[in-house]
Amino acid sequence: MVVVMQEGATEEQIQHVINRLMDMGFDIHRSTGARHTVLGAVGPKIDFDTRDIEVIEGVSEVLRISAPYKLASRTFRPEGSVIQLGEGVAVGAQKVVVMAGPCSVESAEQIGTIAARVAAAGGKVLRGGAFKPRSSPYSFQGMGEKGLELMRRAADQHGLLVVSEVMDQTQIPMMNGYVDVFQVGARNMQNYNLLKELAKVPKPVLLKRGIAATIEELLLSAEYLMSGGNYSIVLCERGIRTFESYTRNTLDISAIPVVHKLSHLPIVVDPSHGTGRRDKVAPMARAAVAAGADGLLIEVHHDPDHAASDGAQSLFPDQFDQLMKELRMIAPAVGRTI
Ligand code: PEP
Ligand code: MN
Repeated sequence: MVVVMQEGATEEQIQHVINRLMDMGFDIHRSTGARHTVLGAVGPKIDFDTRDIEVIEGVSEVLRISAPYKLASRTFRPEGSVIQLGEGVAVGAQKVVVMAGPCSVESAEQIGTIAARVAAAGGKVLRGGAFKPRSSPYSFQGMGEKGLELMRRAADQHGLLVVSEVMDQTQIPMMNGYVDVFQVGARNMQNYNLLKELAKVPKPVLLKRGIAATIEELLLSAEYLMSGGNYSIVLCERGIRTFESYTRNTLDISAIPVVHKLSHLPIVVDPSHGTGRRDKVAPMARAAVAAGADGLLIEVHHDPDHAASDGAQSLFPDQFDQLMKELRMIAPAVGRTI
């Protein structure tokens, strides 16, 4: 960290800051300019709060130089991480991985029909919620374990992997028998008890960005999983809440290159929750692949007018087919395949 002292700070004030930094374990490099004294603090400690120094008398400004996360940082693995989701499916390699399916699992017929179309179009992972984090307690809450059973069967029939949301740590042992990837939803990105338990599970986690979370906070949540032992993490940009109200959320496409710069972890994009409108899903999916996304998470439903949740943002299977064709043309332009 760099501490800039106020113009006219007394020697006593400067010494006080130096002592405080040394107590925190930092080595100090002092440089005295014509007006300001600047203190460079170097050390292994990353969990410090710059405000502790900012509030000391005589301090003008404190700048953080190193990231507050370590294992999730790009420096930890400069070559990037490839996360194996299951047999033959890896995220972060040359292939862009498409995960698709309904918002919620509703019936055997529904998930079977959609799985067939997802697989035929080239999707690799079947998505679908069995535990739904709905804004209203009166909305459909998901089928629970029965839904996972139906989803596993449909996925196996069509050679797909399964990703489904875990809302609470008590669901982990049961869900472990059905899913290949645990999804942590936007609302739970900062549920640290859940993250600590998932850190102990030898299965990949799809970690979605919270609606009001910065990229730094997303990476700190990934750090919880990694510091607890689980390095198999795929990040997901799914839109954040802004003042714009036309779309359900504002899909932060720039999060893709930012995450690739700051972290070695792959990032996929969910244009369905990111926009909330079916007609906006394909353009944003195309943009995501063009911007370097390592994968996509897309809602598809064969009868969205009667979907239990998020019908308005679900693609019809024919639209999904068309989108996959377009993505196959876009991916090679950025050195990828689908
Ligand atoms: C979902 O993927 O079904 C979902 C609920 O997404 P999010 O957590 O991003 O809202
Ligand atoms: Mn949904």
